[in-house]
Parts: sequence; C-alpha cells; structure tokens
Amino acid sequence: MSRFFSEKYAGLEPYTPGEQPQDRAYIKLNTNESPFPPSVSVAAAVKEESELLQLYCDPECRELREEMSKVFGVNSKNIMMVNGSDEALNFAFMAFADQKRPLVFPDITYGFYPVFAQLNRIPYTEIPLKSDFSINPADYTAINKTVVIANPNAPTGLFLGLDAIEQIVSSNPDNAVIIDEAYIDFGGESALPLTAKYDNLLVIGTFSKSRSLAGARLGFAFGNEKLIADLNTIRYSTNPYNVNRLTARAGIAALKDNGYYMNNCRIIEKNREKTAAALKDLGFTVIPSKANFIFAKSDRIGGEKLYSALKEKGILVRRFNKERIADFCRITVGTDEQMTLLTDAIKTIFKEMNL
Ligand SMILES: *Cc1c(COP(=O)(O)O)cnc(C)c1O
Repeated sequence: MSRFFSEKYAGLEPYTPGEQPQDRAYIKLNTNESPFPPSVSVAAAVKEESELLQLYCDPECRELREEMSKVFGVNSKNIMMVNGSDEALNFAFMAFADQKRPLVFPDITYGFYPVFAQLNRIPYTEIPLKSDFSINPADYTAINKTVVIANPNAPTGLFLGLDAIEQIVSSNPDNAVIIDEAYIDFGGESALPLTAKYDNLLVIGTFSKSRSLAGARLGFAFGNEKLIADLNTIRYSTNPYNVNRLTARAGIAALKDNGYYMNNCRIIEKNREKTAAALKDLGFTVIPSKANFIFAKSDRIGGEKLYSALKEKGILVRRFNKERIADFCRITVGTDEQMTLLTDAIKTIFKEMNL
C-alpha cells in the first residue's frame, strides 16, 4: 500500500477472480465460461464496427436495448446495459443500499457481494444457507433490508423457485430485491415477468455464461422504469460509455442468433446431468445444479487435493477456501469430450493415490 491510499479503502479485500493462467493449455473448467465460441456473425459484426472506433459509443445503447426488447419481451425503458453484470451489481448496491438499507445475502454465494458492499461502505448480513445449501425463503421474508440473491446460486448451482422469490419480493415492498440471474439459462425460470408486478424487483443478467461473451463484458438489468432511472443516475455519474462499440455490436449480433446460444445451453444441461451421474458413481456428493457448473465433493479426497491433482493433469476447476465448502470443487460443465476427460482424470487420480 502506498502512503497515498485513501483510508476509506484501507481494509478492503478485493475479489479474487478465478485463475486465467497463461503458462500452459488447460482444460478450463474453473470460471464458468462457455466451451462454445460466439456465433459466427459476432466476429463479422465486430470487425465491421471496428472501423468506427474513432467515435464514442451510444451511451443509451439504443440499438442493443431494442434487440434485448425483442428477445426478452421487455420494454426498452425497463432495461439498462452494463460492462458485465458485475457492474450492474455495483451500481445496484450504490443505488439501493446504505446505512439505512443494509444488505443481506446468503453466507455461501457470489464472492463479489461482500466486496461491493465493503467498497461502498454498506453494512451487510450473511444468512447461513440450510445444511443442504438451500435458501430458506422465510429468512428473507419481511426482513426490511436490501436483499441480494443469486438464482441459481453460485457456487452451489441450486435454484430457488419463483414462488419463494415472489414471497421475498412482495414481503419487502420498501426495499429493492436484487436477483442475480447469471446462470438462469441452464434450466431455471427467470423472475423477469415479476418485474411488471413489483416495482422493487431488479433482475440482473449477463452474456458471459450462456451467450459465450465473457471476454466482451456485457450484462444487463431489468426492472421498473424508476429503478432503471436510478441506476442510470449512477451510471452517468461513473461511466456513461460503459458498453463499448465492439461489445454492443457483438451483443446485437448474439441476440439475433439467440437460438444458437439457447441450443448450447441444452447441450450443457445434458452434459451436466451425465457428468453428475458419473461423479455420483464415483462416490461424490453432488449438489443438484441448474447452472453450467457442478458443485461436488468426495469422501475419498479433500477439495484442495483434488483441485491440485486435476491441475497437474491439465484440468482447472475452482475451489473456495471457505469453512463449509472447503471440500467441494466447482466444476464448469464443458463439452462432452472435456467432461469425459475430467471423469477419466478423476478415476486415474483415485487409482494413483490408492483411494
Ligand atoms: C459470473 C457471475 C456474474 C458476473 O458476470 P459478468 O461476467 O460480470 O457479467 C455475476 N453473478 C454471478 C453469480 C456470477 O457467477
């Protein structure tokens, strides 16, 4: 730390992104990216747009929001586009939480929530998930705080039904409820239709997981017109050009090919179920997932050991050094071929270690 660093950030513990190693080619099953490339029209659209890079992008993202409207059936005034959904989360925390409206989220969830809370000096409470890692909706009912829930949750992959979400939203009418749907396209059901009924519901999504654009940084928020206006107040006070030209164009092209991405999601779901079954056959405890990853642990090998042994064999998975989940690994669901390599590698590890 330099002696110039502001005291207000002195204790800040930054988010630790999953490894993006450059030393060798790994089978990357650690950051929930898509194993499939963007649809072919994306590259062509980006190339064409690159000839206009001397010009600023449209801060309102009008064309992109129009395309979003068509795909999601939402009025464009109910949409804000962002530089990755992490930015929407930060803006939403800035806009809808403070000393008077502290945050509440599960103890096991997306690691960025406590970081954004600390960054913005918002008090927060972590509510323990039940022993099976599910969320108890009663814990959030009429809680009178700004609620943030990832649905499906990360890193568990568990999906919370819309009845429970609606109960949480309707019982906290004086607070925003933020539902982070980064993984919604892999078998969950979006809370988006509820935004028409509840003015306190914000639904956040991303192109990073189901639409193969993690590297482009594109996310979005859906909600009541006034919520979106508040978020735009924050956005225009930080970076109105948050979605650059190339990314906006890539997003438009991707939305026009929506069927390609949704079909990829069905392939991932199939690979997920097959891999989950294979891991159970190997004795793993597997949490039922509606996401593009599997959260699993083995009684035969600790989480850290399995992570290291797989890394040695060229397969990267994610592990969290956190009390309740230290023996779990979070494994991104890739292609059928990648998943076979994963389960074969685990069998080899068990054999080599006499487990
Ligand atoms: C990946 C992820 C995000 C953010 O993704 P972006 O790449 O910033 O759009 C948000 N929430 C959860 C739970 C995630 O896993």
